Amino acid sequence: MPKSAKKPLKKRARKTVAKKAPRHVYFFEEGGADGNRDMKDLLGGKGANLAEMCNLGLPVPAGFTITTEVCTWYYAHGESYPKTLRAEVERALARVEASMGRRFGDPADPLLVSVRSGARVSMPGMMDTVLNLGLNDATVEGLARASGSPRFAYDAYRRFIQMYGDVVLEIGPDPGEEFNPFALALDALKRKRRVERDTELAADDLRALVKSYKEIVRRRTGRAFPEDPIEQLWGAIGAVFGSWQNKRAIAYREMNGIPGSWGTAVSIVAMVFGNLGEDSGTGVAFTRDPANGERRFYGEFLMNAQGEDVVAGIRTPEPIEHLERSSPKAWRELLRIQKRLEQHYRDMQDLEFTIERGRLFMLQCRNGKRTGFAAVRIATDMVREKLITKREALGRVEPEALNQLLQPIFAAKELARAEQTGQRLTRGLNAGPGAASGRLVFTATDAEAWAARGETVILARIETSPEDIRGMQAAAGVLTARGGMTSHAALVARQMGKVCVAGAGEVEIDYKRKRMTIGATTLREGDWLSLDGSTGKVYAGEVPTHPSEVITALFGKARAREKAKQSKGYRAYRQLLGWADEVRVLKVRTNADQPDQCDTAVALGAEGIGLCRTEHMFFEGTKISAVREMILADTEAEREKALAKLLPVQRRDFEGIFKSMGRRPVTIRTLDPPLHEFLPHEKPEIARVAKELGVKPAHLAAKLEQLSELNPMLGHRGCRLGICYPEITRMQARAIFEAACNVAKKTGVKPRPEVMIPLVGTARELELQAELVREVAEQVLREKKTRIPYLIGTMIELPRAALTADEIARHADFFSFGTNDLTQTTYGISRDDAGKFIPVYVEQGIFDGDPFAALDTAGVGKLMEIAVEGGRKTRADLKLGICGEHGGDPGSIRFCHDLGLEYVSCSPYRVPIARLAAAQAELE
Ligand code: PEP
Ligand code: MG
Repeated sequence: MPKSAKKPLKKRARKTVAKKAPRHVYFFEEGGADGNRDMKDLLGGKGANLAEMCNLGLPVPAGFTITTEVCTWYYAHGESYPKTLRAEVERALARVEASMGRRFGDPADPLLVSVRSGARVSMPGMMDTVLNLGLNDATVEGLARASGSPRFAYDAYRRFIQMYGDVVLEIGPDPGEEFNPFALALDALKRKRRVERDTELAADDLRALVKSYKEIVRRRTGRAFPEDPIEQLWGAIGAVFGSWQNKRAIAYREMNGIPGSWGTAVSIVAMVFGNLGEDSGTGVAFTRDPANGERRFYGEFLMNAQGEDVVAGIRTPEPIEHLERSSPKAWRELLRIQKRLEQHYRDMQDLEFTIERGRLFMLQCRNGKRTGFAAVRIATDMVREKLITKREALGRVEPEALNQLLQPIFAAKELARAEQTGQRLTRGLNAGPGAASGRLVFTATDAEAWAARGETVILARIETSPEDIRGMQAAAGVLTARGGMTSHAALVARQMGKVCVAGAGEVEIDYKRKRMTIGATTLREGDWLSLDGSTGKVYAGEVPTHPSEVITALFGKARAREKAKQSKGYRAYRQLLGWADEVRVLKVRTNADQPDQCDTAVALGAEGIGLCRTEHMFFEGTKISAVREMILADTEAEREKALAKLLPVQRRDFEGIFKSMGRRPVTIRTLDPPLHEFLPHEKPEIARVAKELGVKPAHLAAKLEQLSELNPMLGHRGCRLGICYPEITRMQARAIFEAACNVAKKTGVKPRPEVMIPLVGTARELELQAELVREVAEQVLREKKTRIPYLIGTMIELPRAALTADEIARHADFFSFGTNDLTQTTYGISRDDAGKFIPVYVEQGIFDGDPFAALDTAGVGKLMEIAVEGGRKTRADLKLGICGEHGGDPGSIRFCHDLGLEYVSCSPYRVPIARLAAAQAELE
């Protein structure tokens, strides 16, 4: 080939490659940025919002963000970087230098940077950050001169070595020590100087501390502390990417359903200093109260401090409004900015700021985490303020967060008694609302272990760290001795919806002896403690908890009910769920088998019963005797006799349910569990029951033996019982229809029974059982001379039923997906034994989560799709619903919505959650 022909080809090829090379670094400075708020997936929340604030012209120190794609690359390529990254970082760093008028590594007046993590969604405190990067023995002198304060410069330097040593060089505590050697060296120095606070140490002290820190680094790593700022920078970038895979980040992602594939971005931002003297400071604030949603600027700050001091809870910060006195100009500007940001983002914002010598800098803004109470209140208030639409408001509340509004509180009377009897020990900050009583533990591990034994625990810590999150999750409430409203404990507890009292300064905790003292009172592990997270008060002993405002408004006694109905919390809750009901297409029913459960569910918005498990009624009071007689019967005649005793009892139960539910549909399932479940299993019990029933214990034991199965879940249960003992189905059908006629006559309201046959695997099973039910129904209706509309349908809870749904639908008015059994039988995993290995499966990434909690859409969901298609092909008007536990899980509800089901059915207290999730599914 001639040379001339080759050349342009090569050129073209190079050009195409250059065009496609992805960009890894995005620069920002006040007045403009390469990125914007819509680029969270690529720049992480922090990077995207820093860019956005720059675009808005707000005062933000210059910086740049390395994308989340680099993080993914880093892990996919053995912890290395794309080739072009180095050059991109160098170019961006030069722009930061130009913007800030300082050079990185300049011994005369150095630019220092922070290196921060930031994923697509915020993971507070889970990943690492390094501050003051760029300091070494030369630049520290430059910083001392430029700032005019050697003390400040050496304080920044020792903090940097400590942070770098911890995060990048991974220097943890020495064996047998609780704290790392840096913290111990600092404490030792303070003791030597007889001072309490870091701020009381002089420049020379800090210079000496830097020396000892460097010795620690050499001792522990075998190398000198890196003096080259560029080496420091790449070390920190690697450590921040590395922190995406640390234990606490993984645990947090597991708990919050965040995929590991997202990765974190890294933002490198020019340092500004809040610790340059009394005209400098730092703080965090929310545009509304994150605990109760009240519309007021809310937050805290510390003068002469760095950001970590506020969050770490080392000094207790001042309320934000005091900033007006400490730094009036910055205060006025901050007020203006917070309003602007809330209007711009149209959501409550969480802000971080620093004041450097009177000049305000914004370091972060993001949608603020909030409690369930606050979420509902802020969403409804913002609609009233015309900031957002009703539809947007519905998307602003996590369905699960509604749980908090239903959670217990302390009753005023009992609190007053606790006050009078001197139970009140102290008061901290009301960091996480609600009330909790439990037994005291002092470590996260103990909290988990005690909770696993069924104990309700309160976790008390001097302060919490991300290592404690599993323990916090296991505890009913969290108490800390140190830290403010934005300390780790407070942030995490609010997000989890945990009761939390933070920063109770009078509490002294002794981890070694597992005890704490408050004044003259000493409490030990296992003692009872009560926390009022709404007021911050701490009580000794067990103060009983009571229903929340919403629960009182719905179920309280007349006077309390009226009062609770006027509360802001209840009104906001009602409004939001009212909007949800206007929007949603999916109906929400409940799984209930007692009239009081029905009443609760209806008050919480249930539109019918999706599953009444009749066997639950059998265990009550004297009914169990009649059930046992029926099981022990040797002949059909004997069984009929026992069933005749059961009939009136069942009828009465159904009457209660029909009365509660009025015109709402009521799905009643015929007997499902294996019969041995109703018999006693231990010898003394067998003897007692035999006596009660007037039979010989040997006879009872023999019957038990006869009924025992190797695998009862796949044994003689479900419709297989009704097929072998049709008289049981007949009795139940008679009880249902007689009850319906009686209630119709008494109340004038016709009930709407829907009889459901369980565990059907073949069309013939359903055909036989449906025929039986219809025969009895028609007979009863003739006897009673009434017409009651009714349906007969089946559960779809076996793969074969799903696969042959077209045939089964010939005999069904409705299908209800029993996804508990369908998950069990699709996976071949026993639902009773799965707890042993599912956590391992989740940990190893084999399962995304527990398939018994969140529907396996790929497998079980596929069978549901087949069943819907098959069923509808035979009967276009087939009614479809779900009554497995997944009916109350927001993600699964979304799937059911997309599948076109008519309703989901869940336990009574999950009904509000399902209503909101159904509305969100429609809006999405
Ligand atoms: C189911 O299997 O999903 C169901 C609702 O029935 P049960 O849990 O009673 O087996
Ligand atoms: Mg089932």
